[in-house]
Amino acid sequence: MLDAEFFRRWMTATAASVEREAERLTALDSPIGDADHGSNLQRGFRAVREALDKEPPATPGAVLTRAGRLLISTVGGASGPLYGTLLRRTGKALGEAAEVERGQLAEALGAGVNAVRQLGGAAPGDKTMIDALVPAVDALGGSFAAARDAAEEGAVATTPMLARKGRASYLGERSIGHQDPGATSSALLIAALVDASAETEAGGE
Ligand code: ADP
Ligand code: MG
Repeated sequence: MLDAEFFRRWMTATAASVEREAERLTALDSPIGDADHGSNLQRGFRAVREALDKEPPATPGAVLTRAGRLLISTVGGASGPLYGTLLRRTGKALGEAAEVERGQLAEALGAGVNAVRQLGGAAPGDKTMIDALVPAVDALGGSFAAARDAAEEGAVATTPMLARKGRASYLGERSIGHQDPGATSSALLIAALVDASAETEAGGE
């Protein structure tokens, strides 16, 4: 079972990998965007980590809705509202439960991804974060590690795609041949689930 503490660790682990990978995310956003994706997410996840450390919410749903609201208010650009919606909608779908199973998280994250698709209008194949998130949700029923691998493969698979949404779409054919920054950061978010669960096992409880 996954409790509020697990979800807090998930957000903390995401914040840590965003710190580690911020330069790479910004570099990916340079040829097909405006070179701010790493710094955008760094600002957002720093705020999330600080808020959750200061006052840890009591339920998994509350951790994610809180994180989502903070991302919306601190991250500029397209990715703030999109990531904020992802986490807020996922948190809402988890409801008030004190603990949830991985299958429930998979279902809730599916609802979150659908909300992102509605907000941004992107479908799989449009070269966005959706291309990492959809395969991750599909694999999450299997294991966190399977979801991590699926998200990573999904991110890599955006390279040959033509961007149809967001700034990269302004480049048309010239967007081909570059990995999408948002799909790359989404893969970090999903990989952080593995980090958060590894800590539980290492804790040996
Ligand atoms: P901005 O494009 O405003 O500078 P960021 O650089 O922070 O915002 O984020 C860019 C990422 O946001 C893209 O790589 C893409 O994955 C994602 N993105 C942009 N528009 C959309 C959309 N309509 N739907 C889903 N994801 C999108
Ligand atoms: Mg950008």
